Amino acid sequence: MLIGLVGRGIQQSRTPRMHMAEGAAQGHRILYQILDADAFPRGEAPLEKIVDAAELCGFAGLNVTFPYKIDVMAFLDELSPNARAIGAVNTVVFRNGRRIGHNTDKWGFEEGFRRNLPDAKMGHVLQIGAGGAGVAVAHALLSLGADRLTITDTNTARAAALVTQLSQNAGAAQVDAIGLDQLPEIAPTGVVNATPMGMAKLPGSAYPVELLHPDLWVADIVYFPLETELLAAARAAGCRVLLGSGMAVYQAVRAYELFTGRKPDPMRMKATFDAFIS
Ligand code: NAD
Repeated sequence: MLIGLVGRGIQQSRTPRMHMAEGAAQGHRILYQILDADAFPRGEAPLEKIVDAAELCGFAGLNVTFPYKIDVMAFLDELSPNARAIGAVNTVVFRNGRRIGHNTDKWGFEEGFRRNLPDAKMGHVLQIGAGGAGVAVAHALLSLGADRLTITDTNTARAAALVTQLSQNAGAAQVDAIGLDQLPEIAPTGVVNATPMGMAKLPGSAYPVELLHPDLWVADIVYFPLETELLAAARAAGCRVLLGSGMAVYQAVRAYELFTGRKPDPMRMKATFDAFIS
């Protein structure tokens, strides 16, 4: 089975290895090809052409990452309810001449959360970062039962747009946006970093670490490094923490199921991810 990952700057992605190792463990040969738009031998190629080429070559599906999760929707025949609600696709399945878009990032964050912070009180959650990944994370936080979800982003228009979008799926939950300068004025039960801050190339913490206290749980979706400055400070302050690897592994678990129709072993996929990190 051929599968691909479409994005930019994705040569170091851990996703191909997770799928191929899981396939091999199930006696199912998977070739997972990186389709890096920054590294095509003839230079730029429009996204539509990449999707067409993958389908023509018999790929079973594609994972889609930055910066194509929204743009790819224009080239699909159908969207899953999750993908439609979130407005982004990270998994495309080619089946019977149709292209079906899914979003497994949301379920990935949720499942990582359920398994690693099972008793965390949702209550009032603060999410910093309303970009491509943040949209799926925010929907996941509402599904996990947040009573109030506050979004902040240096790009205030982006935070406001996410609040407007979330309001349509929020049910009884309250959703609002605040400025970064207002962070000391709220008392959340949990904090989620969905910005790139904390990555090896962007050190620092988007959440002021002096606001951390032992009753908070803190999640980061950055996974390179796994222990970001925010998570290290949160641990030191006595907080329960959730690593970015949970979302990365479980989005792949769900995508594997969609591509192959088989149930993967999540622990085995996590072990592959962890081995690659170390
Ligand atoms: P993005 O660029 O689409 O969005 C990031 C958002 O954060 C932007 O809206 C930006 O304005 C905001 N931002 C940046 N610095 C900020 C700060 N200091 N304070 C407040 N807001 C700030 O990026 P993305 O695709 O959403 O990815 C964000 C991070 O999540 C990346 O590090 C990426 O590697 C990681 N990620 C992890 C997973 C996973 O499975 N764990 C999946 C996708 C992305």
